Amino acid sequence: MRWILLIWVISACAPTVTNEPEAAPPNIVFIMTDDHAKNAMSLYGSDLISTPNLDRIGREGIVFNRSFVTNSICGPSRAVFLTGKYSHINGFRDNSDQFDGSQMTYPKILQQHGYYTAMVGKWHLKSVPQGFDYWNVLIGQGDYYNPTMASMGDTIDHTGYSTTVITDLALSALQNRIPGNKPFCLMVHHKAPHRNWMPDSAHLALGEQTYTLPDNFYDQYQDRPAAADQDQSIKDMFMSSDMKLDPERVQETGSGGAQPGYDALKNWRSTLDRMTSEQMKFWDDYYGPISEDFFKRELKGQELVEWKFQRYLNDYLKCIMSVDDNVGRLLDYLEQQGLMDNTLIVYTSDQGFYLGEHGWYDKRFMYEESFSMPLVMRYPPLIEAGSIDDNLVLNLDFAPTLMELLGIETNEPWQGKSLLPLMKGSQTEEFRDGIYYHYYEYPHGWHRVKRHYGIRTSRFKLIHFYNDIDHWELYDLQNDPQEMVNIYQQADPKLVADLKRKLLQLQQQYEDQETL
Ligand code: CA
Repeated sequence: MRWILLIWVISACAPTVTNEPEAAPPNIVFIMTDDHAKNAMSLYGSDLISTPNLDRIGREGIVFNRSFVTNSICGPSRAVFLTGKYSHINGFRDNSDQFDGSQMTYPKILQQHGYYTAMVGKWHLKSVPQGFDYWNVLIGQGDYYNPTMASMGDTIDHTGYSTTVITDLALSALQNRIPGNKPFCLMVHHKAPHRNWMPDSAHLALGEQTYTLPDNFYDQYQDRPAAADQDQSIKDMFMSSDMKLDPERVQETGSGGAQPGYDALKNWRSTLDRMTSEQMKFWDDYYGPISEDFFKRELKGQELVEWKFQRYLNDYLKCIMSVDDNVGRLLDYLEQQGLMDNTLIVYTSDQGFYLGEHGWYDKRFMYEESFSMPLVMRYPPLIEAGSIDDNLVLNLDFAPTLMELLGIETNEPWQGKSLLPLMKGSQTEEFRDGIYYHYYEYPHGWHRVKRHYGIRTSRFKLIHFYNDIDHWELYDLQNDPQEMVNIYQQADPKLVADLKRKLLQLQQQYEDQETL
């Protein structure tokens, strides 16, 4: 493999006539969803859903079992993927920030090195995408039905379902490039399965399923004041847009984690107004009877909360089923075009999500469900099918990984580490002994999750909540994988001191001065 890369690097720098066979540089297809929990992907052992196409990427390549984000929220995670730098360095700490598009990103570097670069779907960084030959992105969060998108200075209203529309645009981007001319880097960023989880008609036709409540659904948050104070509990979800009840009959009683002044019912009406009459008919045929049944039953207390859980999971999982089908379409195209062997295919999410664990939806916390995300890669020349990796890896690592894969040398001060040794199976020592996390969106923003930072090692996790609180939590992930028992007070002081020392080292290494 090394000689192939070397030949390509030489030819990319200064094209020369050589008797050696010309090896094509790898293409890149980077597929990212929004808020996809590992527990909603069958390859990771989910019993909630079957995701054969997503699983295929991992089965024919590598599955990262311990993949994490540095800051579990949409915009910031995307900025970390693009820049290979932590939020405090790339400047996008929370969703109220705007991405400084003038800074270096991996698509810019790939473009400079002769790649055709394209970005379709959810961008969510507010500033105009830079470093792309072609971009076509949802405006803001975008809509599930009939999304309006911005492309190269134009605004276009699409008819259809966002996951399908984005996949159609991705396929067009591949078809419209000049074949054989340049290697390509295609980024396909889906809105799904982001809130408010509106499925497509094909998956609504499957009907309602019944799911098992997580055994920590009724968590009482003992010794965890930040967990007790959040506003992202399923019991408080919006009755309108989250539960999909009839907007003409429902009274909005859920807080929904919203900021003051947000009118969920009004927004729900305008979302439904986007639909065509045909879409609306299908929608009403499905949700009308659910509404009817709900208003008849007058559910209260535990029954109501568990009804909300079922409604939430039904819609969330159906959105992922559409992602899986559409990733299948993309893989089919690559296969038909003979591109499967020379394309690095990545599937991941901008972070994980709660599917009822701790009684929650949403993300933000450094607890496992939202801190982790799916990460699978397929690239046969380098990655042996069936590879599984248990090292601690981060979204921070993606940009430096591509640089090493493509043999591109830069002076960029990447903060991540190339995953190439893990992909090749040549890593013999522990890749990292700890990963660093920092979340900022408080007291502004949605869901009232307090600011915190922390370290996770292969066994322990130490978190410090700060700002309007000064509270430490420590978990033994081996004995308490659900993070229900905060052992900070009773743990061996040597263990605590060791973790604090490592945490400080990471803050210094990554130049995060804000809490020092
Ligand atoms: Ca997200």
